[in-house]
Amino acid sequence: MRKKIIAGNWKMNKSLEEGMGLVSEISNMLKDEYKGSAQALIIPPFIHLNAISKLIADNPKLGLGAQNCSNHKSGAYTGEVSVDMLKSCGCSYVIIGHSERREYFNEHNAWLAQKVDAALAANLSPIYCCGETLTEREENKHFEVLEKQISEGLFHLDKIQIQQVVIAYEPVWAIGTGKTASTAQAQEIHAFIRSLLANKYSPEIAQEITIQYGGSVKPENAAELFAAADIDGALVGGAALQSRSFVEIVKAMA
Ligand code: PEP
Repeated sequence: MRKKIIAGNWKMNKSLEEGMGLVSEISNMLKDEYKGSAQALIIPPFIHLNAISKLIADNPKLGLGAQNCSNHKSGAYTGEVSVDMLKSCGCSYVIIGHSERREYFNEHNAWLAQKVDAALAANLSPIYCCGETLTEREENKHFEVLEKQISEGLFHLDKIQIQQVVIAYEPVWAIGTGKTASTAQAQEIHAFIRSLLANKYSPEIAQEITIQYGGSVKPENAAELFAAADIDGALVGGAALQSRSFVEIVKAMA
């Protein structure tokens, strides 16, 4: 059965002290209040990873991920962070291709495919983000855009490797805007992504791959989204910055 994963992407927010406080609250609340099967991931800035890894070590409901990684193994790449470094700080996951990185840092599919390879080589699971802009949706190009992002970023992987990947569908028009895709819109795309995986690999493999939704997920809309057949969790931005809202989203997953 595929994993259900709720990941909290803090982006460039929280001092170390604030972050440690937030994680302690989340960890305590999940221990006491959550009996479901989803895994919650904390995805803080790089600089907090090591400390947070120690803080969550005794809570099996919590895992750790990074927001980005280098496509290079090591060397003269000032300011970059390698997958081996992430692994040594306790990460199991790394976000690759978030729309903010695609847009502000010009990360394109071929580049992201290299990052996916680097992550897998270090035994980190990539959370590979894809999603259309508002203009692309209005021009009815969203299926085409998603197919390109997924095939160019992931379809060089073999049948074993692809099963280590988590896909996050994040319509760019819904990220940080308060505008969520309707459950029907999200489910339509998730089913489409699963059909791409089924055609490329096999229907059985497609069924094993976790596909998260991201874009203004909140306690108020999480349960409805998670009830959809192909939505296996969420990549959460704004609502992950407060313990109560993040834990409520986790609790919305049975
Ligand atoms: C995100 O950063 O991936 C995201 C989905 O943000 P928000 O939940 O704030 O829309």
